[in-house]
Amino acid sequence: MSSADLYIPSWAERVAAGLGPGPHVVVTGISPSGNIHAGNLREVLVAEAVANAQKARGEEVRFVFHADTIDPLRKIAPGVPKDYERYLGHSLSRVPDPEGCHASYAEHFLEPFEDALGKLGMDVEVLRSHELYEGGVYAEVTREALERTDDLRGILQEISGRKMPEHWSPYLPRASSGRLGGRVLEHLPEQNSVVYEDEDGWEDSSNYARGEGKLGWRVELAARWKALRATFEPFGKDHTSRGGSTDTADRMAREVFDYPVPGRYEYEWIQIKGRGAMSSSKGIVLLPNELLEIMPPGAVRRMILGRDPGRALDLDLGAGFPRFMDEYRAQTEGNPVPFAHLVTVAQTVGGDVEGAAEMLRRGGYEEAVRDREKLREDLRYAHNWAERWAPEQYRLGVRREVPAEVAEIDDEGRRYLRAVAEKLSDGMGGDEAQDLLYSTAVELGVKPKKAFAALYTALLGKKSGPKAGPFVAGLDAGFVRTRFADVSGDTHSQGAER
Ligand SMILES: [Zn+2]
Repeated sequence: MSSADLYIPSWAERVAAGLGPGPHVVVTGISPSGNIHAGNLREVLVAEAVANAQKARGEEVRFVFHADTIDPLRKIAPGVPKDYERYLGHSLSRVPDPEGCHASYAEHFLEPFEDALGKLGMDVEVLRSHELYEGGVYAEVTREALERTDDLRGILQEISGRKMPEHWSPYLPRASSGRLGGRVLEHLPEQNSVVYEDEDGWEDSSNYARGEGKLGWRVELAARWKALRATFEPFGKDHTSRGGSTDTADRMAREVFDYPVPGRYEYEWIQIKGRGAMSSSKGIVLLPNELLEIMPPGAVRRMILGRDPGRALDLDLGAGFPRFMDEYRAQTEGNPVPFAHLVTVAQTVGGDVEGAAEMLRRGGYEEAVRDREKLREDLRYAHNWAERWAPEQYRLGVRREVPAEVAEIDDEGRRYLRAVAEKLSDGMGGDEAQDLLYSTAVELGVKPKKAFAALYTALLGKKSGPKAGPFVAGLDAGFVRTRFADVSGDTHSQGAER
């Protein structure tokens, strides 16, 4: 993506201005312990918007996605075999892929998310925490944490109000069983290692400069800021609640690691309208790639961020979606084809781009058909949305056979269709057709709403549809004349044949 295309909402400009001069390191982190859903995407997009705003201010910015691949498996994701309980406590990077298609459990859930970030054209460095630990990036901060164990324990106890165990350590060595969390007995700073006792009472050593263990997550949060020189990180409200992980990390950063607390933005959850809050553990997930199948990357950014990511948001992917698309495209494209119209075209022609171009051109949407690649994409979004999300009233391809529903059209409606069949001519534009359809109803004294219902029923088998003029003009005029003539004739026998 070129810098000219950067989407920088005004809230992100304000956040960036408040951070002061750089260089900046914008960090966001997610544990790939299950499906990484569109709610998680909100966090990354908040970070991206702030990084972009910094860039626009001329600051030097590094934008990092910290995938918490060394984190222990705490809970088995929905759909993962029950016998994976034997891996609880093991690093996600060392647990096998439950479906066998990736190198690890972590990669299985991380890869589709990384793929979506690529499709979004996001300029981000994806770092895997197990590689950072193995490469020694956390060695220095781990040494500091071990040396200041008592201070860290004190902060945790004060903020949580709970007494920490006697042998508590900020560092979790990986035992030979693979489980993280052996009991630390001694720190050997000149060897970057600790001596620990595993659950069976065996003693061994763990080198923290080679990824043979990790910091406990509350300590790691503060340590990570220092290790990566972070200057900004967004958080969801679960972390920023009183006594939450940012409360402990803020104090640890200042009092133990001697590192300033990075700038922060608190974002609120998103929900899917009609389905509730997104939750990997409950299996209510919307994957970023599902969104990219029904809209372009720019629309995904705007939808997920909303007007202000500090506010909760209901994603409407049903009846409200065409309006969202129309608003988005009006801002970015000038004069787009209404999405509802594209949906009808897509369902009528299937994957036939030339057929769609013909329908749109006849309907008066000349401009929209010039870029065939873009048209192909637009049709794909419209088609996928119609198949997966659209409410019933939008599922309306033009019927190849006379719909049985025409039996519901009364004499007035049939008279109207007969009159239209006589007047409709080849090469009529959308506006011209709209005038003809409307004025014919008025001339016959048929209420326009009723007249149009007859028209939609004859073509779609439904009482409503996209704007009638461009819709009818988009179809082959001969086909429409024949259909209307058929329906206005002996509709009852037509219905009975089916
Ligand atoms: Zn896999």
